[in-house]
Amino acid sequence: MTKYIFVTGGVVSSLGKGIIAASLGKLFRSRDYSVIIQKFDPYINVDPGTMSPFQHGEVFVTDDGAETDLDLGHYERFTDTNFGQVNNVTSGRIYQSVINKERRGDYLGATVQVIPHVTNEIKTKIVAATKQFKPDFHIIEIGGTIGDIESLPFIEAIRQFKAEVGIGNALSVHCTLLPYLSTSGELKTKPSQHSVNVLRSYGIQPEILVCRTSKPIPKTEKEKLALFCSVPKEAVIECRDMKTIYEVPLALEAQNMCSVVLKMLQMEEREPDLESWVELVNKIKNPVKTIKVAIAGKYTKLSDAYISVVESLKHAGYANDAAIEIKWINSEECLDMANCKKQLADVDAVVVPGGFGVRGIEGKLNVIRYARENNLPFLGLCLGMQCAVIEYARNVVGLKGANSKEFDENPTYPVIDLMLEQKNVKGYGGTMRLGAYDCHLKKGSKAAKAYGKTVISERHRHRYEVNNEFIEQIEKAGLVFSGMSPDGMLAEVVELPKLDWFVACQFHPEFKSRPDRPHPLFKGLIDAACKNMK
Ligand code: GLN
Repeated sequence: MTKYIFVTGGVVSSLGKGIIAASLGKLFRSRDYSVIIQKFDPYINVDPGTMSPFQHGEVFVTDDGAETDLDLGHYERFTDTNFGQVNNVTSGRIYQSVINKERRGDYLGATVQVIPHVTNEIKTKIVAATKQFKPDFHIIEIGGTIGDIESLPFIEAIRQFKAEVGIGNALSVHCTLLPYLSTSGELKTKPSQHSVNVLRSYGIQPEILVCRTSKPIPKTEKEKLALFCSVPKEAVIECRDMKTIYEVPLALEAQNMCSVVLKMLQMEEREPDLESWVELVNKIKNPVKTIKVAIAGKYTKLSDAYISVVESLKHAGYANDAAIEIKWINSEECLDMANCKKQLADVDAVVVPGGFGVRGIEGKLNVIRYARENNLPFLGLCLGMQCAVIEYARNVVGLKGANSKEFDENPTYPVIDLMLEQKNVKGYGGTMRLGAYDCHLKKGSKAAKAYGKTVISERHRHRYEVNNEFIEQIEKAGLVFSGMSPDGMLAEVVELPKLDWFVACQFHPEFKSRPDRPHPLFKGLIDAACKNMK
């Protein structure tokens, strides 16, 4: 039978609950247990796909084409497991199913209410994920902070669920913050005590407390927390700020968190195999060089907007014993070529990531032109590939006025156009070309060499594509279309073979990189950057 672990957060938001859930997942995996992690988000959007990255950070895309919370990225990277739509559930999705059922007449005669109808729907979503994956452990992270009005139905649903599966089959991990008062030199436990009290007032007694802290927790304070929050002493876990998020599983393991959980859930203890993870963390903490990579995007004020891109760059860095320093470049400030040059003069590589809308495009084109003309290692992602094609068409092929129909309704040369199947699409939610599709790579191309194979599968999230009418002309001028969809209809990868690394793809490789298995395209970029290091 699957065992359940519910993860909640208190005191403040942004505690890193997602990393804690993912780290516990890693500890199960290191014991050869299977695990899934599911995120419940209390907002009313059906998924984060329609939200601005400024609001919500990156939209993570799964193989099955779900547009999900960025925590799913952490879950996949830590547990090395691919998840899907069932792993991310929002209030919007719950209400949508309940209202659809009501209209269909499924509840005929009943007054439809939060309890039991909404809470039952939430429990159904838990069971659906368990049924799909049949894991040994099912971790459920509830977004938001205890005390929020909007997460109440989720909290009530897990209270019921815990009672239904019974003691020994489910437990709660509550994550809190211990603020440090520098004037008195103390870590304070009171906010955590209050937060646990609020959780209890909803009928949930946590079994495990994970305390985020900037300082070690003195034994006396641990004992105090155990006493007031009614958890065993060994279940008060310290979670310090770390140099790298990938160290968190090791810090939790050092305090036997997983063993405590296994014991409480009456599961057999197994010897964890964390050898390669320890090695990885050592590598991360002892880089021999620093590679400076520019990311030229629009959402540069919020690094969460490109979190998978940043993680993928770091992963490729680990494989090269290199720390990655990100230089955020606001592409709107690259409109002037002289300024663009100045911005890029001190970097070893540049990434133009995905995005939507016309703002910042001309600056991105300048960035790509600079990379192409100066053999600066370049990786273009989705919009970044579309920009690379526009730049090449304009400045090399000589198609002045080449553009994407996303940015100009009627360009002289529409080298990027809406995909055929998108032309009649109405509405914005979940309507892009989403999820995993195969791509065939040209033998001998940089991309094929990097992957070490010619058939790959990558995740997508776009409406526009390269206009096939221009491919021949552009290719004659030297840009190689080295990756195509299996039917040959959709351009997936372009590259310039003469340059050290000038590769761009229509898909999002950043969703498939792992800390101990960097994505080939990111690795190609950082390998080239290391060779050209400034
Ligand atoms: N805006 C472009 C499109 O819709 C690129 C999307 C992206 O970068 N994810 O095709």
